[in-house]
Amino acid sequence: MNWISPEITKKIKSSIKREEPVAILSHVNPDGDAVGSALALWNYLVKNGVEAKVLLPNAAPKFLQWLPGYSEVLLFTGNPDLVEAYLKKAGIIFYLDFNDPNRLSRMQESVEANRNAVRILVDHHPNPLLDTRITISEVRVSSTAELIFYLVKELNGEIFKDGEFAECIYTGIMTDTGCFSFNSSLPSTWEAVASLLKTGLEKDRIFNLVYNNFSVERMRLLGYSLDQKMKVIPEYNTAYMSLTREEMKKYKFSIGDSEGFVNYPLSIKGVVFSVLFIEKKDHVKMSFRSKGGFAVNDMAARYFNGGGHKNAAGGESYDPLDKTVEKFITLLDSYSKMLK
Ligand code: 5GP
Ligand code: MN
Repeated sequence: MNWISPEITKKIKSSIKREEPVAILSHVNPDGDAVGSALALWNYLVKNGVEAKVLLPNAAPKFLQWLPGYSEVLLFTGNPDLVEAYLKKAGIIFYLDFNDPNRLSRMQESVEANRNAVRILVDHHPNPLLDTRITISEVRVSSTAELIFYLVKELNGEIFKDGEFAECIYTGIMTDTGCFSFNSSLPSTWEAVASLLKTGLEKDRIFNLVYNNFSVERMRLLGYSLDQKMKVIPEYNTAYMSLTREEMKKYKFSIGDSEGFVNYPLSIKGVVFSVLFIEKKDHVKMSFRSKGGFAVNDMAARYFNGGGHKNAAGGESYDPLDKTVEKFITLLDSYSKMLK
């Protein structure tokens, strides 16, 4: 599979040659693919003498903060002025792993204030809403990190042999495929990983850093959520869990602690749809997952101000937690035919 055309490579190459600062953006609540793809590109650019910065709306969870280059990332939370100043002088803006400007959260205005930069999208979500000069938008690919791997290969003329780059790419692919359990049926994904292994990637070390690095409280919160909070609705083949702020406080919740919880109910025989509701200060964050044919991005986009992929999407509700859950349950009936 050749994801990157020669024309696109030529256009991006000539944009980068203009020697203007490069801003690399990704989405709010960044996941492994967001941070991995952004830092992979950043590692490639700065190691080739290009001035570049990764700008994120907010911090990544702790289990991603070891990624090479994370300490150089500028976060909008805490540094809005520095982010704005960098965006003002940027000549190129990369949008990685999202395609809806709302995903920039409060950083959106600062990004839009720069009207002159060459805008480049590299993403794998459906239905792009961003208007970019250069667009790489491939729904079939495993991850944005895989696209960055192949883009850098084209820009570099051969595989970029750099251990830190490899770690960032691998983290993106591994996390976005649930450790190669979904979105990973194309040879291009495995070919990319094989190339990384040839450059000396220690894949088991990365797995341990991402998945075997949780606090005791996080583990207990998972147990509590599955035992006490998971509700199964057999007639809709659906399961959901909700967590209040109080419950999270009790388990010393820190950012990223509930990552992955939503996937567990899908291991139950017959359950094809799983939703997690997390109560935040001023909204409810929702995660939607499915297995098989049920497209969760439809409900997320139509009713909960969100979107995403067919089997993994997210959204937000501005109703209280209990009202949000009620609304969700009421909606299930209209999807009943698809929830078989
Ligand atoms: P998560 O549930 O892990 O936050 O997100 C799952 C998937 O849905 C990710 O691919 C993410 O990019 C997408 N997603 C999460 N929240 C939103 C949202 O509010 N809007 C959109 N458009 N996509 C989202
Ligand atoms: Mn992704």
